[in-house]
Amino acid sequence: MEKSVLVIYTGGTIGMVNDPATGVLCPFNFDQISLEVPEIREFDFNIDNYTLPELIDSSDLRPALWVDLCRIILDNRARYHGFVILHGTDTMAYSASALSFMLEHLDKPVIFTGSQLPIGKIRTDGKENLLAAIEIAAASDNGKPLVPEVCILFGDRLFRGNRATKINAESFDAFQSFNYPPLAEIGIHVHYNRAAILPPPLLPPVARAGLDTRVAILKIFPGLGADIVAAILSVPGLRGVILETYGSGNAPTRADFLDAICAAVARGIFIYNVTQCAGGSVETGRYATGRGLHEAGVINGRDITTEAALCKMMHVLGRGLPPDDTRRLLDSNLRGEISIAK
Ligand code: ASP
Repeated sequence: MEKSVLVIYTGGTIGMVNDPATGVLCPFNFDQISLEVPEIREFDFNIDNYTLPELIDSSDLRPALWVDLCRIILDNRARYHGFVILHGTDTMAYSASALSFMLEHLDKPVIFTGSQLPIGKIRTDGKENLLAAIEIAAASDNGKPLVPEVCILFGDRLFRGNRATKINAESFDAFQSFNYPPLAEIGIHVHYNRAAILPPPLLPPVARAGLDTRVAILKIFPGLGADIVAAILSVPGLRGVILETYGSGNAPTRADFLDAICAAVARGIFIYNVTQCAGGSVETGRYATGRGLHEAGVINGRDITTEAALCKMMHVLGRGLPPDDTRRLLDSNLRGEISIAK
């Protein structure tokens, strides 16, 4: 098979150019990519593109797009060595996390990238990001893809998608992965951190397209009323909650707060303890304030990001498993999103 990469364009800043007639920014025609990014011709492999019918600012993202992306990737899997997804930065960490869970036993690189400045602007970061993403999507060793994972490439680093977070609205280094090292550093050469990259899967890929979006994120803050907690936890149909706690997974010890949490767990709602800190991990046994949640039946999210926790919750609930299996999956490392052995 001749080497080729499929670039899937979903929208976002990266795909914007100035309309020559009006001067305003508008989405770029990907069929003319080599006019905008002539360097692309220097790759010695084929690059195809697929533009989604509706280009979006990623703030308008809905989970249906994740289902479409999984289908496009699996339908085209035999034809391409890797995939690049051009996506707005605002929700890129959610999309990369979601696809990491939805594409089980993924054996090809799926590299999300975007940019802070449109590709048609003179100082754009979009060209470098696009070119590096294509190079990494095509990279192989003995015929096997070097990075068979869903990743985010931004600036000079490649991150595991479900470990990355958008941390800056202006800088060209817009993403960071606080709890897991970069999978590659991009300079004159691309240095792969092979020890950090997931091994190729043993089974053929499958799409886990079922997602349950009846979930919520509840961030604890000083002064949060137990009535508000109880009201959120009693939303009809609610199935899962990401509880953003302090530090190493701590929360108020007040009885009314813990009672509301206990009652929700008893009603079958899955609650995941995720720290508000950018780096570090939940350790439920460390303080009495964390033990209360543990005893109430809250599941330890360890060092997972909020974005990955939310997508993991949607994915695991969407599998429609019995409660014990749902709990077990939430408590385990599925795609390298938390730091415990598989
Ligand atoms: N609002 C834009 C989006 O997320 C920003 C970007 O593309 O980076 O689609």
